[in-house]
Amino acid sequence: MNSPGSLLKIQMDKALRLNERFGPACLNDPESGRLLRKLRDLIRRTGAAMLQSGVVSACAKCAVSGKGSCCFREMGESYGFMELFVNLLLGSLLPEKTDSQGSCHFVGDNGCKLQARQSFCLNYFCPDLKNSLGEQTILATRQQVGEQLLAGWELERVLARYIADADRQEQIGPPSCRR
Ligand code: SF4
Ligand code: SF4
Repeated sequence: MNSPGSLLKIQMDKALRLNERFGPACLNDPESGRLLRKLRDLIRRTGAAMLQSGVVSACAKCAVSGKGSCCFREMGESYGFMELFVNLLLGSLLPEKTDSQGSCHFVGDNGCKLQARQSFCLNYFCPDLKNSLGEQTILATRQQVGEQLLAGWELERVLARYIADADRQEQIGPPSCRR
């Protein structure tokens, strides 16, 4: 087994620290809680659309065919701490070890280990897949993906504000320290 690259390791450690520090509070916060529920629902809908359109079965066949899927190592390396923090809030685990040498750190026997995947992971259709699905199906799938990505960005923005506010409060300190 292999380890993630050093940059991804830094991002994963940062996401884990954020989750430890802010995870429970963000889950209980009305605004971030609502946006998390919305994102979870849209992820479920994207999954259903991918399943129905045949993307899931085509990519699963591709993964076991030996031709190699498009889950390249570089893809996993490009995840940032905020995207990974969102995945932790959704209940995904960040694996310490890479299962498949040369592939994305997050790929496992049952597919991707992340719930909130980034744009390329959701929007990329290789030429074979494009031919087999057809333009209309790809368009409908991308519309669904677009809604999910928008909800993810909205949540990240709220989380970033939450963290910045908490940091600011910490710097100011409790009332007795402000004298
Ligand atoms: S998009 Fe194409 S290359 Fe990528 S996993 Fe699916 S079938 Fe394979
Ligand atoms: S779909 Fe998952 S396993 Fe594939 S490249 Fe994206 S993050 Fe990695």
